[in-house]
Amino acid sequence: MLLPDVELRQFSQAFDGEIVVREIDLKINRGEFFCLLGPSGCGKTTILRAIAGFDRPYAGEIWIRGQLMNEVPPYRRPVNTVFQSYALFNHLTVRENIAFGLKLKKCPKSELEERVKGAIERVKLEKFADRHPHRLSGGQKQRVALARALINQPAVLLLDEPLGALDLKLRKEMQAELSRLHREMGLTFLMVTHDREEALALSDRIAVIQQGHLEQAGSPREIYQHPKTPFVADFIGEANLLSGFLDAERRIVSKKGAILVDRWNKDESVKKGDCIILNIRPEKIKLGAEPLADCEICFPGRIQQITYLGTHLEMIIAAIATGEIFKVRQTESEADRFSVGTLVYLGWKREDLSLFNALLN
Ligand code: ATP
Repeated sequence: MLLPDVELRQFSQAFDGEIVVREIDLKINRGEFFCLLGPSGCGKTTILRAIAGFDRPYAGEIWIRGQLMNEVPPYRRPVNTVFQSYALFNHLTVRENIAFGLKLKKCPKSELEERVKGAIERVKLEKFADRHPHRLSGGQKQRVALARALINQPAVLLLDEPLGALDLKLRKEMQAELSRLHREMGLTFLMVTHDREEALALSDRIAVIQQGHLEQAGSPREIYQHPKTPFVADFIGEANLLSGFLDAERRIVSKKGAILVDRWNKDESVKKGDCIILNIRPEKIKLGAEPLADCEICFPGRIQQITYLGTHLEMIIAAIATGEIFKVRQTESEADRFSVGTLVYLGWKREDLSLFNALLN
């Protein structure tokens, strides 16, 4: 079994005496595309900067390829960083920018020329090699930054919101480019992003961070389908978070009296009266004009709002008996038969719910 490429052991970071990242344990495997995902200010960049060596950890250890890095300066670490701001030298051409690091390392001329040519081809900048950065688009600048980092053949490529400055269309194109480069080069990519779709689309695994704390690490599918906390459920996708409690018949009942789960046998440690938070994804709620025979839970509601979102429709539906509000997603063809004001039946299957014991969170 290979050692992880990057390992954080009880890593904490503090600025001006204030802890901003707390006791993170994380292993990033060789060749993985790994994303640190979380809202603004949660500590993603702080973690990346410590791995790059720009800041020393407040506590804990950082290991890269089996070596403790805490005392190793950035230029001795087998990593390179790509920043959102590109950090290119404006007085140098594309070719010179890409060659810069190798020149510093006194790489022999013929090898340098060959590697620069290879890097330019890899990021498809052949036509722009003699331009200066101010004559490049945002996407082209980011390709230069990528080539400049990759030419050093790092063990791990660190990417700090690399696509953050690009518009949506270019962002999508560059996501495909990143994915291609990752596949072709087989390197470990560690990327910081606050964009959940980007993280879901690109990553082998994702670590969701909140307020300096690691909430969950796992594959996109695991995190989306089996979130461990209400925060992850809400952050990684659209959610209907409901809170209820366990009654004497082991049903989970909402505070307004709706039955959310009709018999909960899992986890005997949860007792009558305990509070439980549930999530049901909007696309997992089923809708019908008649009661839904194949759902364990079914109740009537009234459609309050329908929003057209291109590939699908999003509806806001209020439960008739309790007034609770549900977000429901339907494909356009399925939704044809519904309009605002229509009485519908909502339902779900037990296996489509995520349950969180509120006492544990
Ligand atoms: P964003 O997505 O907005 O870039 P982030 O998740 O990368 O956010 P960080 O930049 O890691 O968040 O910041 C985490 C916390 O640490 C924030 O509260 C920030 O204000 C604080 N912080 C980061 N760097 C420093 C610093 N050099 N001095 C003081 N506080 C800092």
